[in-house]
Amino acid sequence: MRGFHCVDPAHGRIVFTGADDEELFGNIKAHAAEAHPALTETQIREMMAGADWWRSMATSGNNAGSSPSAYDK
Ligand SMILES: [Zn+2]
Repeated sequence: MRGFHCVDPAHGRIVFTGADDEELFGNIKAHAAEAHPALTETQIREMMAGADWWRSMATSGNNAGSSPSAYDK
C-alpha cells in the first residue's frame, strides 16, 4: 500500500492511499483536478517522487505538512 497526503489551507489535510503507485496517482490526480487545477500530471508524478521543488514546498508555506513524497503504508 502506498500513501501520500496533501495539506492546503483550502482543504486541510487529506490522506490518499493506493495499492500501488498507479492507483495512488489516480487518486491524487482526481483530487488535483478539483482542488489544484494548475497542477499537471507530470508535476503530480514529481511530487510523488519527491522532487526538490516539491520537497521545499511541502516543508514551508501554504503546503507545509504535505508529504514530501509518496511513502509505503
Ligand atoms: Zn490538495
